[in-house]
Amino acid sequence: MNDTLSQLLEEKTLGDEGLSLLLESGDGALVEDLHRTAREVAVENFGNEVYLRGLIEWSNICRNDCLYCGIRKSNTLISRYSLSKEEILEACGEVWDCGIRTFVLQGGENPSSALRLADTVAEIHASWPGAAITLSLGELPFETYRLLREKGADRYLLRHESASPSHYGMLHPEGMTLSTRIRCLKALKELGFQTGMGMMVGSPYQSTDNLIEDIRLMEALRPEMIGIGPFVPSGGTPLESFPQGSADTTLRLYSILRIMFPRALIPSTTALGVILPHGTEEGILAGANVVMPSFTPTLHSPQYSLYDGKNRPSSVRGAQQVSNLKKDLSAIGYRCPESRGDYKE
Ligand code: SAH
Repeated sequence: MNDTLSQLLEEKTLGDEGLSLLLESGDGALVEDLHRTAREVAVENFGNEVYLRGLIEWSNICRNDCLYCGIRKSNTLISRYSLSKEEILEACGEVWDCGIRTFVLQGGENPSSALRLADTVAEIHASWPGAAITLSLGELPFETYRLLREKGADRYLLRHESASPSHYGMLHPEGMTLSTRIRCLKALKELGFQTGMGMMVGSPYQSTDNLIEDIRLMEALRPEMIGIGPFVPSGGTPLESFPQGSADTTLRLYSILRIMFPRALIPSTTALGVILPHGTEEGILAGANVVMPSFTPTLHSPQYSLYDGKNRPSSVRGAQQVSNLKKDLSAIGYRCPESRGDYKE
């Protein structure tokens, strides 16, 4: 095995030079070795198992104007929706019936509706006590996070997007800052949420040094979940003409992070599946251990268009998507247990 790789495996970290080597090297054998090593670490920790999460994109109403995001406030090309409590509960029932034991409620950032969602969270918790509830609702007041936690939410995904304050500033409108994001992440941890961070790969203006800063921030904050996907341009946003991120770099990052954070829950993300045929399986073979099929009702799903190619009207979803996924994963030797798939030390 290559020296850099054995050092990574042994010390669970690397200096900046080692990390840039693994991110940029043109040596195909090294990259293969990296993926194989990460896959072995994943199998040691999770067996040949992939956790499924049922993703319910509950609302695309957002107060923010993130420059990359298709549901940003200024995008007037999409129509806005929020699912009713009944629609959310119905989607949860569908998720449960597929043998999936985590519901993920994701939506635009909207503090007043997040507050109203607390009731729904309580009802989900009471109706399916055997399932975990993950939320992804952006930056909210501490008291709202606390309320959601008290009502039964277990996990929270809030990508940090970029660990470089200046790069963060190029992706977000004035008023949004990395320090607020970090404050939210610390609050979530303090409240006992299993907390997820992450970034887009190949977002506009991003350098390899930025990616290394992202890794360092994750080393400092120790997230239980790490969500990483390629940037995919979204028509109608200010960053629509930038090229999409690299699937290869995304896969290398899954592997590096799997080795550095052996127990982390790392999804093979939808965005990777959109830009790379069999991207979902490739992500698992690079060390990811989670997949999040969508249960957003077909009527609304195309309006949850974070980027182009996501949630096409023709996209397979729900039970059919799960059955396809299980087939694809089984073909590469993995199965999906009916378990919550919590983070374990
Ligand atoms: N509003 C919530 C959740 C929705 S956005 C939040 O901000 O956390 C969920 C994630 O989608 C974001 O964290 C971002 O990293 C990703 N995303 C948004 N636009 C994207 C794009 N154009 N390409 C790839 N990923 C994107």
